[in-house]
Amino acid sequence: MSQSTWSDESAGVSDTERRYWHMLSRYERLLEISRNLNSTVVLDDLLGKIVLAAAHLTDTEAASIMLMSRDGTLRFEAAVDPAGISLDSIEVPLEGSIAGWVVQNGEPLVIEDVRNEPRWSSNVDDTTSFQTRNLLAVPMHSRDKVFGCLEALNKLNDADFTEDDVDTLNTLAAQATVAIENARLFEQSDLIAEMVHELRTPLAAIKATTYLILRPELKEEKRVELVDTVRNETDRLTRMTTEFLDLARLESGRTRLAEKPVDLPHLLREALETIRTQANERQIDLELVLMPEDAVMLVMGDNEKLKQVTLNLLTNAVKYNREGGQIWLRARLEPDHILIQVEDTGVGISTENLEHMFEKFYRVADSEGYTSGTGLGLAITKRIIEGHGGEIGVDSKIGEGTTFWFTLPLPGIEEGDGKPPTGQP
Ligand code: ADP
Repeated sequence: MSQSTWSDESAGVSDTERRYWHMLSRYERLLEISRNLNSTVVLDDLLGKIVLAAAHLTDTEAASIMLMSRDGTLRFEAAVDPAGISLDSIEVPLEGSIAGWVVQNGEPLVIEDVRNEPRWSSNVDDTTSFQTRNLLAVPMHSRDKVFGCLEALNKLNDADFTEDDVDTLNTLAAQATVAIENARLFEQSDLIAEMVHELRTPLAAIKATTYLILRPELKEEKRVELVDTVRNETDRLTRMTTEFLDLARLESGRTRLAEKPVDLPHLLREALETIRTQANERQIDLELVLMPEDAVMLVMGDNEKLKQVTLNLLTNAVKYNREGGQIWLRARLEPDHILIQVEDTGVGISTENLEHMFEKFYRVADSEGYTSGTGLGLAITKRIIEGHGGEIGVDSKIGEGTTFWFTLPLPGIEEGDGKPPTGQP
């Protein structure tokens, strides 16, 4: 470590200079550590890095970190000692412990000899077989709250802790706080956690399949089939990442929906034409029903996104329909909104599944337990409709068919305000 080089460089210089070089070297290390911490978003890895940095920077044998948990208890989360890093969540009493005192008082504490210290609790030493001699503990502040404590234990060469040690550990604690908050935010982001979870399944399937493909005794036709599986799963992963980004942008508000007049019957006709080839392949009949037939149906919104919604519902209506089935695309002018329905004569959706239909990654497995979809289409659809001030829903009967519907408010109408349309031509 760079820690040991300063003394060689500064041999023969005064104590003040030596201290200066020491501080400079620590400062450089701190900068390096700060960059490193901020690039780590996995909380356990991060905690491991923090305790390692704490021990290195203060020239101590060991270091540990304790954090307040949601239930108000203080927990020992990670430690580094000569035996390596351990990550364990042991409760530390708030009363009668050094860390508890630091968290409650929000001030650093140096204990030169724990044997003479009434606040010392041997709780952690007992479970880790580590012998604490002296220690430095600093609070971790987040905004105006103390949410943890960083400790450095047993100064090397039987030395005492210095002012520099306190400053250094305080600075590290501040940097660690930011990194921990980032990592916690990352962990709390359902979308990312779910995405990672969803990616693992097809990735595992691909990996397992590639092993199989290499088996010399495998028949050629089986090999082709397996290569197809890999291709399909890779396609699905590609779709998933694209749709995932779409959804993440919608959820974070980064997608701005256009607010332009949209001629709905025109949009619905275009969507039907786009889907026609796919429907023809399965002899599925498509019908557009406008009610009233000659109504002007103008809404304010994002033409492309509304087309995406319609196409998604139509694609599903084809995909989950029976061969030779029927699809009705209806639009009905209501007093304050337009109601659009996509009705099919497909497999239907069971009551248990219906309530989860718009959840991200939700899919209904087919009879073989296989699904080729991403389960993101309907979640995206719902976001887009809600972004337009509309509502979306589904009715279905197993074996008979499904109707997805959504509403789009007429211009000048706030959803549910009951006023007559003002912007209507
Ligand atoms: P994907 O189709 O990509 O899996 P969606 O979010 O569009 O994702 O659909 C989620 C699930 O809803 C599908 O897996 C399917 O089981 C079910 N589903 C959607 N539309 C229909 C429909 N019209 N009829 C029957 N099931 C449907």
